[in-house]
Amino acid sequence: MPSDGMALSDAKHAQPSVALTSFDAAACYVPFHFSTRHWGIHVWKSGLLSLVSDLIGHTRLTVGQTWIVGFAWQVLFLHELFHHWVEVGVARAQAPHVLGDWKFFDSIFCALYPPYVHDRPSSALEEALANALVANQIDRFYHPSFRSTAEYRHLRTRILRVMDAQPWPYCDYVKVLSRTHHAEGLAHLMDRAFIQLQLNKTGFPRRPSSSEIMPPDIWFTGQRVHGSGTCPVYFIDDMPAFPLVFSRPFPKWNGLEVLVHPNDHKPPHIHAIHLGTREERRFTWDDLRPLDAEPRRPVQRDVHRYCDHFRRRIDKRVKSMPWA
Ligand SMILES: [Zn+2]
Repeated sequence: MPSDGMALSDAKHAQPSVALTSFDAAACYVPFHFSTRHWGIHVWKSGLLSLVSDLIGHTRLTVGQTWIVGFAWQVLFLHELFHHWVEVGVARAQAPHVLGDWKFFDSIFCALYPPYVHDRPSSALEEALANALVANQIDRFYHPSFRSTAEYRHLRTRILRVMDAQPWPYCDYVKVLSRTHHAEGLAHLMDRAFIQLQLNKTGFPRRPSSSEIMPPDIWFTGQRVHGSGTCPVYFIDDMPAFPLVFSRPFPKWNGLEVLVHPNDHKPPHIHAIHLGTREERRFTWDDLRPLDAEPRRPVQRDVHRYCDHFRRRIDKRVKSMPWA
């Protein structure tokens, strides 16, 4: 259990996470067709933090890793934003004049979205496309200079692995990653929306199919990751008793950095990080016996030197912690 500062789950209930976070359990999109008051993207704190721990592989975050919380937020936002785009797309198609003979049908407004939502093939495809949006667009939130860093590239790879490990249909995003397959997917979603007219026997004389009439760009036009600020986004703090606590590491010195976590477990110990390799190893306080055999670094001798230098400050911090 490496690292400093922020615990991502309640230490008392911390369990090794077996199942990876499902994006739609961590966040959800409430369509405006179903609620004019609560529609929008909702992100739960518990879901956000659980995705963060999937991304870093453990439940503690160093102060320097706090950007990963933002990254996880963008992932959930993008996934749910895609569900919003689809609703807007289908809503655009509900205007009767696009469904063929507009003179004949212009008094009919067809609510395609409610039956569409219950259409299983389109729900599955929509999830895969939503994850493909994450994979294709997450970079847009970060400056190229940061995207070229090893830590960003690592996390970029990690989010793909997290999505690969999700159950079907989420993991199917790999099939709709390319521009062509994504566009085909969008066209197919719209076709499924139009098929609802036939299934509901609304008596259309022809088989309206969106991709016969118009390309999917028509329904999805203007939907961009940046600039689609019309969808409300809510953050739900479902863990109010569990504040996010960040602790400052002790100074970098002699190639090391030392941290003491709030909410950490007995025995009282410090986390020492080797600045060259970012390897992290725990040592008991204040006899500095290694708690972890691996990694080998930082070596005990260096940790001793560090702690001789900052002993009083570290001792004060360790003694102020509850050590559950
Ligand atoms: Zn989803």
